[in-house]
Parts: sequence; structure tokens; C-alpha cells
Amino acid sequence: MQELIDSYRHKGLRKKLVETLRKKGISDERILKAVGVVPRHYFLDRAFADWAYKDAAFPIGNKQTISQPYTVAYQTELLELEPRDKVLEIGTGSGYQAVILAEIGVKVYTVERQTALYKRTSRLLKDMGYGQIRQFLQDGMQGLPRFAPFQKIIVTAAATSIPQSLKDQLDIGGMMVIPVGEDSQVMHRITRISEKKFKTEKFDHFRFVPLLKGIND
Ligand code: SAH
Repeated sequence: MQELIDSYRHKGLRKKLVETLRKKGISDERILKAVGVVPRHYFLDRAFADWAYKDAAFPIGNKQTISQPYTVAYQTELLELEPRDKVLEIGTGSGYQAVILAEIGVKVYTVERQTALYKRTSRLLKDMGYGQIRQFLQDGMQGLPRFAPFQKIIVTAAATSIPQSLKDQLDIGGMMVIPVGEDSQVMHRITRISEKKFKTEKFDHFRFVPLLKGIND
């Protein structure tokens, strides 16, 4: 097990990261506070620990990445979280995004398709004391019908189209934030206006690893 040590130096680096995100336009104080308290270096391989507080994406093994802090904050801000929200995340990866959501106080369900990542992250989140985050090993494109509806859905891998099953699992008034595209993706926000009506908004460009079908590679 990785030793979980959070030092004053790490805390100082996090403060700087928070200021960087503020300058880049993140204004939701709950998100900035969460970034300020969550030790991002726990989520990276030890070799990258010193870079954990740069605003950059990093490899986490199994050809996957931990999203850039700005991307995490950007997607979280678009979710317009409310305290009682039940949030579904597709693409647990390192678990960092899930922990940011949990710190804000919403109920988190997160799905990962790679067994090795799922196992490693399950252990880390328990060791960090986030046992309340519900983690699932399955193909997230199907969502989690038995726990639907969700007030919010966040997809942290690139979709080529918006999975219908995820739209179906949104609560009325609920929102899904999902990057859509092949080489680079446009951040989309889908709001469920009524049973059958959805509103689509488009935001900035990002680069994510692809949303893949089935479990493992
Ligand atoms: N939210 C993560 C970002 C991880 S990168 C973090 O904070 O670190 C995207 C993740 O999505 C990868 O771990 C990848 O394995 C996973 N993924 C891709 N397709 C998926 C699918 N259909 N269902 C669940 N997870 C998926």
C-alpha cells in the first residue's frame, strides 16, 4: 500500500493550484475548496508525485490518465451541484474526480470498466476514508439503471455520441456533462427538461481517453 502522507509542502502546492484554477475562470468556491483539501498526489504513481499539483493530466497506468485539475473543476462547475444530488460518474480512473464530488457533499456513484484500476482505486478510496463513494466495475455506457434516476451525470471519457441509456437515467431537471468527439471533444451539457425533451449546450474543447465498450481491454 502507498503511504498516505500529506505535508505542508503539498498543502502549499495545492494553494497555488487553487489560485491557478481561479485565474483560469473557475469561480465555484465549493470546488476550489475541494481542490484545496484533496491530496492529489495520492492518486498518482509515486514517480509523478512531485507533479501532482501542476495543472496537467498524468498517466495512471492501464493506458489511462487522471484528468487535468482544470478539466475536473470545469466539468464539476457545469454540473451546478446541489446538496442533495445523486451523481453518477462514468470513468472512475484514479478516483480523483469522485473524491472532489464527495468533498462537495453530493452522493457519488462511479463506474469503471478496467478491473485493475477499479481494484486499485477501491482500495485507495477506502484507505482515504471515502467508503461512502459507491464504486462499480462494469461498462458505464449502460449507466446504473438500478440506482436511477440521477440528478447529475458526469462522463470523464470521450464519447463519439451520447449514450441513450445515460439520458434515460437522468432525473427531470437533471444534467449530464459529457465530452463528445473523436480526436478532440466538445464539452456538452444535456439538460432533461421533461420526460421526452432535452436541451443541449456546447462549451470548450478538451482531450479525453475514449469511452470504450465492455469490461477490460
Ligand atoms: N475521472 C477520472 C478520469 C479517468 S480517465 C479521474 O478523475 O482520474 C477515463 C476513465 O474512463 C478510464 O479509467 C477508463 O478506463 C474509463 N472508461 C472508459 N470507458 C468506460 C466505460 N464504458 N465505462 C466505465 N469506464 C470507462
